[in-house]
Amino acid sequence: MSSIDFTETNKGRVDLVGAGPGDPGLLTVKGQTRIKEADVVVYDRLAVEWPFLDTKEGCLMVYVGKAASDHVMPQDNINEMLYQYAKCGKKVVRLKGGDPFVFGRGGEEAEYLVKRGIEVEVVPGVTSALAGPLYAGIPVTHRAMASSFHVITGHRKNNEPDTIDYSALTRLSGTLIFLMGISNLEKIQDNLLKNGMNEETPVAIISHATTPKQKTIVSTLKEIVQTANKHSDLSPALIVIGEVVKLRENLSFFESKPLFSKTIVVTRAREKISELSGELFGLGANVIALPMIRIEKIINAEKMKEITSSFSQFKYVIFTSENGVRIFFEELHALRCDARIFSGKVICAIGRKTKEALFRHGICADVAPETGASEALWEKLSDIIKKEDNALLVQAKNGRKYLSRALKKSCNLTEIFPYETKAEETEVERLRELVKTGQIDAITFTSSSTVANFLSHISVEELKENNVLLFSIGESTTKTIEEAGLRVCAESEKTCVRSLAEAVKRAFCERRRERECIGQEGFG
Ligand code: SAH
Repeated sequence: MSSIDFTETNKGRVDLVGAGPGDPGLLTVKGQTRIKEADVVVYDRLAVEWPFLDTKEGCLMVYVGKAASDHVMPQDNINEMLYQYAKCGKKVVRLKGGDPFVFGRGGEEAEYLVKRGIEVEVVPGVTSALAGPLYAGIPVTHRAMASSFHVITGHRKNNEPDTIDYSALTRLSGTLIFLMGISNLEKIQDNLLKNGMNEETPVAIISHATTPKQKTIVSTLKEIVQTANKHSDLSPALIVIGEVVKLRENLSFFESKPLFSKTIVVTRAREKISELSGELFGLGANVIALPMIRIEKIINAEKMKEITSSFSQFKYVIFTSENGVRIFFEELHALRCDARIFSGKVICAIGRKTKEALFRHGICADVAPETGASEALWEKLSDIIKKEDNALLVQAKNGRKYLSRALKKSCNLTEIFPYETKAEETEVERLRELVKTGQIDAITFTSSSTVANFLSHISVEELKENNVLLFSIGESTTKTIEEAGLRVCAESEKTCVRSLAEAVKRAFCERRRERECIGQEGFG
């Protein structure tokens, strides 16, 4: 909070934004835009741990808590905090789980601010009351089963009498959806039975809905309390009561996803982590994002000037990474130069992403092997490059040296290092604990440097002992893993995150099939 300047006088505002129930894909486009513009984001405990919030640089993130029993900050203080930030000119986003106006006191926060003359806008969110049952495969209405649904709070203020009219609820014969009801499950059951609801009515409890931890427990009204008592870690949860619960048998699309319930660690540079996380999350995985390296720009304007002023000498320009292209062009533009300086040159790129990055700057690479390894590029270049040719190699300072060595022997090489990869401070202890307690199913590696860095924190033995599966994005990463004495479960066909996610999916599907076969043989 200390970085906020409370003396500013510009007009601030507060947007109450619904974050949706957990799945980052359920945040609305409007909500995401507001988050991106915000100076301050004040948020509750959100349902997933995933860096999906795309905020602008310097945006202040303020956590105000709220697990069931851990009210980190009293509501009055939250209201006042929002008011103070807005009053001093900040664009504030108050991010709330689900929809801001479905329970959760969004209305009270808005009232407090409006009364004090603060501009307030509310961006709806996907409410857990509807998305939760849907992700569990339960349509809340159905022509033959339920012509209405009712969203009810199961929470009662300390020892106050229940104000819910259960006799009306049982007469409605619609689907009943209780929020905040899990700690009052027995009372809800009791009230419904007392008011004549059939004890065989199907009931589902959906916890951590729309997240990789989603769990759906199905029972009858008569037995739901006993069934629920057999499970732990159920909060947050919804209780869905009605015949429609039965439809789940055929409609449970989310829990049938290929990586559902698998915990996968993603180790990439911080700037790039969300792409692979997104792919794996889409396949149902519980993703732990662990940035291992960060990209640090090291080129300066002097060096860039020197390179561009003698650019006409180069016949070949070789880019080895997307980051190299990005930073090179940033610097080029800063000198008020553009892609025209590449006219007449042979442009080479390693990997599809690098090729695409060049294409975005209007350049079609002439030599660009898909596989992404230096060896593949060298195979093509070695036939055409001549001793007297001048070549410029653009790559990370601490990148692989293979290409640089090969080129030095075969032509006049100039090297330029726009960036270097640095080790990232990470939550190593937490990761270690997760590996040791068998909570990690797989780890993905997208470069040799992330492997090296990772293994400086966790021993090869720890990984082996806990049967963690390792996945690699390509040849050189695989080589580094194998040189460390570990086995790679699968390597992606192409050097891109989608292909890597595909390799992870295939491996887990195969394992599942194998297990099913063994299971069938066992019964046969
Ligand atoms: N505004 C929120 C609800 C806030 S009240 C919304 O529209 O979803 C908090 C209650 O919502 C929790 O006690 C729980 O009953 C429900 N809830 C929120 N997120 C949930 C999730 N991911 N899975 C299951 N229940 C959830």
